Amino acid sequence: STKQRIAIVTGANKGVGLAAVRQLALKYPTSPLNTGGSLLIYLAARSPERGEEAVQTLLDDAQLREAGVLVQQGGSVTVKFRELDIGSAESVAALGEFLKKEHESGVDVVINNAGIALKGFDSAIVRETIRTNYHGTLDVCTTLLPLLKPSPQSRLVNVASISGMLDAYSPAIQANFHAAVNKGSIPAVTALMEKFQHSVDADRVEEAGFVKRAYGVSKAGVIAFSKVLAEQQRQDGVVVNACCPGYVATSMTEHMDRPGAITPDEGARTLVMLALQDLDGKRGEFWREEKVVEW
Ligand code: NDP
Repeated sequence: STKQRIAIVTGANKGVGLAAVRQLALKYPTSPLNTGGSLLIYLAARSPERGEEAVQTLLDDAQLREAGVLVQQGGSVTVKFRELDIGSAESVAALGEFLKKEHESGVDVVINNAGIALKGFDSAIVRETIRTNYHGTLDVCTTLLPLLKPSPQSRLVNVASISGMLDAYSPAIQANFHAAVNKGSIPAVTALMEKFQHSVDADRVEEAGFVKRAYGVSKAGVIAFSKVLAEQQRQDGVVVNACCPGYVATSMTEHMDRPGAITPDEGARTLVMLALQDLDGKRGEFWREEKVVEW
C-alpha cells in the first residue's frame, strides 16, 4: 500500500543501532509518520549471522511483545535483516538497487548509525576510520537520498559524535570547515579529510592545525556534509540532521578509560526523535540529548 513506510538503520545488529530499530518500532504507532499504514524497518548489518540474530532478539524482546507493535504480535511493524557493509561501494550500490526495485514509491527514513572507533593513532588507522565513518556514510547518503520521498516527513539522520566538535582545531581549520559548509561543497569537506590524512602521513598533525584523533575528524566531516546535504534538500526535500547519541555503554566504549554512561536505548532517543518527530522546521543541525548543539 502507498501508506507503507520504509526505514533503514545501518550498523543495527548491536549497540545504538539495534536500540534505534527497537525504539522506531515502539514509537512509530504514535508518531506523525503513522498515517494508518505499516512500517517496514530494514535492520542493516554487514554480517548476516549477527543481523539475523539481532532480528530474533527483537522478536523475543519483552517490551516489544507487551506493546504488541510487531506484526508477529498483532502490530503493524515488520523488522527484516538486510546486508550492508558501508565500506563497500558494491554493497551500498546493491542496497540502493534492492530498495529501488522493492519500494518504487520510495523510502521514508534512513539512519546512518554504522561506525568504527579504532584504538591507537597512525596513518593506517586514520585511513580506515575516514574510509568507513566519512566515505562510507557519505556513500550511503548519496545513494539513498534519491530514494527518499521528497517530503519534509522524510528523514536522513547521520550519527556523528560530540568528538566531531570543531573547537579542538586551529582557527584556520575551523574556518575551513565553515567555509566548506557555507559554499555547500562536499568536495571541500572531503579535501579537509585529505588534508588531515596528509598531515598524519607527514607527521605534522599539530602544525596543520588538527589533533591526533582519527575518529573526531571523521565525525567532524560527517557533521559538515550533513549540513551541506540538508541545505541541498531545503526546498521541500528530505530533512537531514546529524547527532550524537551521548556517551553510551556499547562495545565501542567498553575498552575505553571511562565506561559508557547511558544505555543504548537512551542513546537511541535523539536518533529516533530526528527520524519520527516534528522538528519545527529545523534541519542541518547537530543534535545531542534531543537539543540542537552549536557546532
Ligand atoms: P558499536 O560498536 O556497538 O556498533 C557499531 C555498529 O556499526 C555495529 O553494528 C557494527 O557492525 C557496525 N559497523 C561498523 N563498521 C561497519 C561497516 N563497514 N558496515 C556496516 N556496519 C558497520 O557502537 P555504538 O553502538 O556505540 O555506535 C553507534 C554509532 O554511534 C557509531 O556511529 C558511533 O560512532 C556513534 N557514537 C557512539 C558513542 C558511544 O558512546 N557509544 C558516542 C558517540 C557516537 P559489526 O557488529 O559487524 O562490527
